[in-house]
Amino acid sequence: MARSFDVVVIGAGPAGYVGAIRAAQHGLSVACIDEWQNRDGKNAFGGTCLNAGCIPSKAMLESSELLHKAQHEFKKHGIKTGGVELDLATMQKRRAVIVRQLTNGIAGLFKANKIEGLVGHGKLLAGKNVEFTPVSGDVEIITAKHVILASGSTPIELPIAKFDGDKIIDSWDALELAEVPERLGVVGAGVIGLELGSVWARLGANVTVLEAMDEFLFMADRDIAKVAAKDFRQQGLDIKLGAKVSSAKAGKKGVDVSYDDKDGSQSMQVDKLVVAVGRRPHTDNLFSDDAGIQLDERGFIVVDDECRTRVKGVYAVGDCVRGPMLAHKGSEEGVMAADLIAGEMAEVNYDVIPSVIYTSPEIAWVGKNEAEVKASGRAYKTGSFPFAASGRAKAMEQTSGMVKVISAEDDDELLGMHIIGPMAGELISEAVLALEFNASTEDIQRTIHAHPSLAEAVHEASLSVDNKALNFPNK
Ligand code: FAD
Ligand code: NAD
Repeated sequence: MARSFDVVVIGAGPAGYVGAIRAAQHGLSVACIDEWQNRDGKNAFGGTCLNAGCIPSKAMLESSELLHKAQHEFKKHGIKTGGVELDLATMQKRRAVIVRQLTNGIAGLFKANKIEGLVGHGKLLAGKNVEFTPVSGDVEIITAKHVILASGSTPIELPIAKFDGDKIIDSWDALELAEVPERLGVVGAGVIGLELGSVWARLGANVTVLEAMDEFLFMADRDIAKVAAKDFRQQGLDIKLGAKVSSAKAGKKGVDVSYDDKDGSQSMQVDKLVVAVGRRPHTDNLFSDDAGIQLDERGFIVVDDECRTRVKGVYAVGDCVRGPMLAHKGSEEGVMAADLIAGEMAEVNYDVIPSVIYTSPEIAWVGKNEAEVKASGRAYKTGSFPFAASGRAKAMEQTSGMVKVISAEDDDELLGMHIIGPMAGELISEAVLALEFNASTEDIQRTIHAHPSLAEAVHEASLSVDNKALNFPNK
């Protein structure tokens, strides 16, 4: 007899595995199918995020930043180190261990929550049947009352620079390089381009980033992007804007890259070329033609605001549906789908999703940026506070950057917060909570922030909206 579950989840990335856990917490019987295989041939839960994205990239960012600090900052603190050397093999081993610990942790969580973790390929058939093709063994048809599709995304490949897994590589390959390339080219100055470009620049590569758009970090607030461009260039990232790659040919000596910019045709040779021009939804062989699932013109699974597909009882969450491709967005959608399946009320507040770029300095924002508020026509006021005036930032030797706050002129509602500086990714949580609670700027102004802390910069920026900053001259 066919196995039957209340919920079958296809995909065990942060959208799928979190949805599976929440469904199990509701007392539902749950199976979660995943086919991810790491480069060592081993299968692992956790999807892109744990195996090839968020976690390994942050491990490498941390390690490379420590090396940079040891080489360039320790002496400012009065610490003499002698020669500091890179041991890339150990650094890479640490990354792999962290990934393994966390992905094993998901298998443990599945067990603890009595979730059936199934390793292999899942395919939705008509009538909410799921075809499960295990890594070894026979194909099985599993029946489900509800299905959650959480199949994630894959890197976009440029036809003029196809991935070869050696010289022209994607972000996953770029995380696992065994040697520091002398010359590294990156196509795309988006989140991946900047994070991975920073890693390899700190480890000693000469990094050139080619970005097609004329504007740097077009999704960020302009004041923040300006500081970021200056800082990254000072760190040695050679960021070329308005650079449209026309060809990339891998040969024995490296990759010959041609591109056009405002000065005409240009060329460069690099040892490795990372192509990081965005990701596309991954839905290959995910459902049969008669399953009733629809894709939009960009290949995303069509869902409503509550992640329902056109098929009753079938949900889709995470990178395979519209919205920002972020792990925390996917996880919240997984939770929402599971709660709705259990008959609870649930929603995702798509207006309040934080974005973080884990460079140094970090960049984080939530809510609207100034251009968006201006375009909305609502009268607004802004305030800011530089980390150069923060005692804690000075003690940390990390004074670059600022906090910028945008608030409504009429009722003082907080509309957006934008941070570039130390621990921006942690600091932004206060603004996320404030926006979630529809806080006013005055609410933050009247909240006590510990001294000395980086969070004081958030407090002071909020005060400065009304010209009440205490530790920096007001406008
Ligand atoms: P995925 O994590 O892609 O998981 C999907 C899973 O489904 C995979 O394991 C896949 O093998 C499996 N699957 C697909 N189809 C099938 C099938 N038919 N049968 C069985 N299994 C299937 N986001 C952040 O929020 N913060 C970050 O710091 C961050 N850093 C990143 C760094 C890099 C280098 C990259 C590439 C991405 C990063 N992201 C980050 C984005 C983040 O990884 C994704 O948004 C997130 O992983 C999406 O989660 P998901 O569950 O939708 O999909
Ligand atoms: P992205 O969308 O962030 O950036 C892609 C960049 O490539 C853009 O600036 C775009 O203008 C540029 N581009 C596109 N085509 C180009 C071309 N032909 N030549 C030159 N430049 C070109 O995409 P990404 O950096 O690949 O990241 C993919 C996804 O992963 C993002 O959606 C991001 O949200 C997610 N991610 C998040 C984090 C994080 O949260 N810290 C980290 C890494 C990745």
